[in-house]
Amino acid sequence: MRQTELLISLANLKNNLQIIKSKTSSDIQAVIKANAYGLGYEEVVETIESDVESFAVITIDEAIGLRKHTKKPIVLLQGVHEVADYEQVEKYNLDFVIHADWQIENLSNFYLDESRIWLKLNTGMNRLGFNADDFEIYFDKLSSFKAKDLVIMSHLAASSEPTNKLNNSQIRLFNEITAGKTNKKSLANSGAIFNFPNAHFDIVRPGIAIYGGKYLENGLKPVSKLRSKVISLRKVKRGESIGYDGAWTADKDCIICYAPIGYADGIPYSSFNKKININEKEFFIIGKINMDLIAINLENDESIKEGDWVDFWGFDHDLTKLSNDFKTISYQLMTNLSGRVEKNYLK
Ligand SMILES: *Cc1c(COP(=O)(O)O)cnc(C)c1O
Repeated sequence: MRQTELLISLANLKNNLQIIKSKTSSDIQAVIKANAYGLGYEEVVETIESDVESFAVITIDEAIGLRKHTKKPIVLLQGVHEVADYEQVEKYNLDFVIHADWQIENLSNFYLDESRIWLKLNTGMNRLGFNADDFEIYFDKLSSFKAKDLVIMSHLAASSEPTNKLNNSQIRLFNEITAGKTNKKSLANSGAIFNFPNAHFDIVRPGIAIYGGKYLENGLKPVSKLRSKVISLRKVKRGESIGYDGAWTADKDCIICYAPIGYADGIPYSSFNKKININEKEFFIIGKINMDLIAINLENDESIKEGDWVDFWGFDHDLTKLSNDFKTISYQLMTNLSGRVEKNYLK
């Protein structure tokens, strides 16, 4: 069997939920879209279900899959993507966001008394949601449906940047628009849980914090470790080139090894010259990233053998720092991992 795996620490996952809970008295909605940020939603749900009030996903398929594992509320964060999807919303008792007028068309044809409607406001991100001027119209419209509840929500554009002025202006506007409404309110993603305690409202919506991909300075722990085993060693002479297009040439005699992991597994194509670890020693990835392989320059280290583990990241790595190196973000490193990477869970 190919030994390219993502190890997932359920203990660290549990730790992260405890840290989040210690930072807020609001209910927690676990955002588990994109297969729980690449970690596999089934095991994640089983581990954290008792700590959360509800779950959030993007697609109907994600929600239907998830419904087999929990009776707790599941919200579609972008609402339905076509009005026909309300059939599934009704069948699976899903909660859903309304961010656009067309999503309301047809709503009265369904029995949604088991669903919460999440009315989405645009408070300054200018992504999805109704503007302040239109709030009362949509609030009244949606209040007239016999849904289980009507929650008011918005999303912060810059919660990871405590000094970014957008935050306070969004929080102020959210307060202004919703003043006097007794409905439940929700604004905070992970960044706001740590950086803006005044933005927690009734339900917080952490994603990346649960998975230990950011904000580790608060006691969160990395949840995943990505590794692959050396399958080939090769001596290369000065002046010889490596791999596709001969993109890397040895400037002295050296030893190269290969590990069976490539861009089809989610390794960024830009990983040339990036550091990885083998037996706690650092080496550089060389040449073009292949679909199914990477080459690593061992220089003249003869201690590395076939079968040794190549570690991309681990339980002691801050993925946010590491992702800078790859000119990306931890969110993308995690969610880019493909289904081909075997997932193994540690208790
Ligand atoms: C993805 C998402 C979140 C979670 O964001 P994190 O930064 O991962 O905590 C919260 N709310 C909405 C609307 C989202 O789309």
